[in-house]
Amino acid sequence: MKTGLITSDTYQNHDTGPGHPEQIARVSVINENFKKLKNKNILWKKPSIISEDIIKGAHDSKYIELVKNSFPSKGFSSLDGDTIISPGSKNATFDAAGSIIAAIDGVQNKEFKNAFCSVRPPGHHCNQNKAAGFCILNNVAIGANYLISKYKYKRVAIIDFDVHHGNGTQDIFYNNKNVLFISTHQYPYYPGTGSEQEKGKFGNIFNIPLPAGTNSEEYLNAFEFALKKIKEFKPEFVLISAGFDGHEADPLAQLKLTTEDYYEITKRILEASKKFCNGKIVSILEGGYDLEALKDSSKRHVDALLEFN
Ligand SMILES: [Zn+2]
Repeated sequence: MKTGLITSDTYQNHDTGPGHPEQIARVSVINENFKKLKNKNILWKKPSIISEDIIKGAHDSKYIELVKNSFPSKGFSSLDGDTIISPGSKNATFDAAGSIIAAIDGVQNKEFKNAFCSVRPPGHHCNQNKAAGFCILNNVAIGANYLISKYKYKRVAIIDFDVHHGNGTQDIFYNNKNVLFISTHQYPYYPGTGSEQEKGKFGNIFNIPLPAGTNSEEYLNAFEFALKKIKEFKPEFVLISAGFDGHEADPLAQLKLTTEDYYEITKRILEASKKFCNGKIVSILEGGYDLEALKDSSKRHVDALLEFN
């Protein structure tokens, strides 16, 4: 079966200003690479138009209002110190969230077996009512709530392998027993959260903090714990917060993962969860700031989605 690739041209207009690491080229290098590869098993799809009701699954109404009214008509504005917005950011923000909806519907309707959403802005640092760390809406959290409300799933797993802790996602699901959240991340590091002591009200949160300098072997050994927790939870659907900034070439952090590790991590998630979710996996781009590493690692990530679907 096919793998969906959900993306939009509107990400080209989310201008974060000169020198910002969360730059326009991030999504273009990924998409141009996949276009060049011409893999017939990749099905390209545009984001769904997302309703406010769906966004409300993850965010307060007041916050959604604030976001909607914050986009400047020209120049730049900001939602937090790191989160810069420009006129084109509005469509990009809602398309990024709408892409996980298009991906989930595509999997549910059997258009494709699984999917990767190539989007920006990313989402996992944003919680119910606060933008942070380049993130405006929490795309993956909106997706998880959509799976629960629309498709009535009772066990949704979110695996976050971005090098930074997915603090916004953790906040949103801290008291939600329907969602298993597992995050591997450099620690201590931005945003400061993500210790093993943060477990969630129902023991549904598992943080795997890793010291700067962690290499492939050490990472994959630590990841065994994540796989064990996936098997215990028996997810009916798996979402991945796919950040590629744990790569050794990434300028924003100090883990030492290689391009090949992203194939291996993805393959292991698929193998561990297949029995429960029948391969129903939707992955969405979070970080990754070295363009070459981002292009190659996202390709290997999708290779595993194609191969083990
Ligand atoms: Zn990150």
